[in-house]
Amino acid sequence: MKKSFVYQIVGAFLLAVIVGLVFGDGASNVAPLGDLFLRLIMFIIVPLVLSTIVVGVTSAGDVKKLGRLGGKTISYYLITSFIAISIGLLAGYVFSPGSGVDVTINEEAVPSSETQSVVDTLLNIIPTNPIEALTTGNMLQIIFFAIFLGIGIKLVGEKASPVQRFFDGLAEIMYKITGIIMKLVPIGIFGLLAPIVGEYGAGVLLPLIKLILALFIACLVHVVIVYSTAVKTFGKLSPIQFFKGIFPAATVAFSTCSSSGTLPVTMKNTQENLGVSKETSSFVLPLGATINMDGTALYQGIAVVFIAQYFGETLSFGQILIVALIATLASIGAAGVPGAGMVTLIMVLTAVGLPLEGIALIAGVDRVLDMMRTSVNIMGDATASLVVDASEKKREAA
Ligand code: ASP
Repeated sequence: MKKSFVYQIVGAFLLAVIVGLVFGDGASNVAPLGDLFLRLIMFIIVPLVLSTIVVGVTSAGDVKKLGRLGGKTISYYLITSFIAISIGLLAGYVFSPGSGVDVTINEEAVPSSETQSVVDTLLNIIPTNPIEALTTGNMLQIIFFAIFLGIGIKLVGEKASPVQRFFDGLAEIMYKITGIIMKLVPIGIFGLLAPIVGEYGAGVLLPLIKLILALFIACLVHVVIVYSTAVKTFGKLSPIQFFKGIFPAATVAFSTCSSSGTLPVTMKNTQENLGVSKETSSFVLPLGATINMDGTALYQGIAVVFIAQYFGETLSFGQILIVALIATLASIGAAGVPGAGMVTLIMVLTAVGLPLEGIALIAGVDRVLDMMRTSVNIMGDATASLVVDASEKKREAA
């Protein structure tokens, strides 16, 4: 990765903060630059996810290898999400961000409790019309379709090889387009962040500063301890090299608050800077951008404790276990788009009988919380691809 690109990103960050602070609401004039970048990355996601997962599945060798890859990936995702929630819950109790806060509930933001049941959520993964899934950008359904397309191509063999070559080609094209769009990352960061800095004066952040700081510290602990250990022990890569390599994607996640939107950059960084093979990354990363959200899980742990503290409720040990379980599902169910984790928080609050008004308490600062959790989400995906890739390479070498 070129040094100058990193400087451009850092420069864009600083400039965004300065412009936001100096111009306040006026900074929203640069928002079209952010929208331009967002639209550019959103436009490649559906064909990217479809083609890379098909390629990931078809290049996985035999069905046995595919099963092994899938098994490893999902186990890794579940374990790290569970660790993340535990850190979140712990941080909630250590920092007690919800005691002594004085914020009024924004009634308009009180969500309705109409979320899907767990069974419906699972059934919904199967698209009744894959073309509709593609046009509406339903990621879980697209992944389902792509995995089956890949398996079908493998089972059919020779006759399906033109289709396989088509998806191979499409994936390469998408990588190329990603490369072009990447050049605009600094402009995108500036256009996305400056209006947010301008809109959120310190006044909005201060009442909930304890919550923001608690999440920041918990994210840092998770990233430094869990990811450093994983990349060093299993991925045989120095953590510094890992964090440097994934830095551009982390900044894009921070400014877009969307793991799905960041996916093209995450793939590029893991392949080019971390040396993860295309086969592994094209399977592990699109899946991770949709179902693996350590940052979201961690946030839900802290948010639940925060809300309980605010309303003076005490959670029993059994309830804490329920939170851990449901938050795992809620983080899997959250789409990789801004604010999704706050919506699936409804599931967790309902499960332990906490008032949904709690969500309205944090809604005002959720964007800032989202920046942190989305950055952690994509770093978690990148770590997983590195770990799974290293273990596959080791197997092949043996
Ligand atoms: N914005 C997050 C993401 O895209 C999801 C969330 O809201 O927690 O990863």
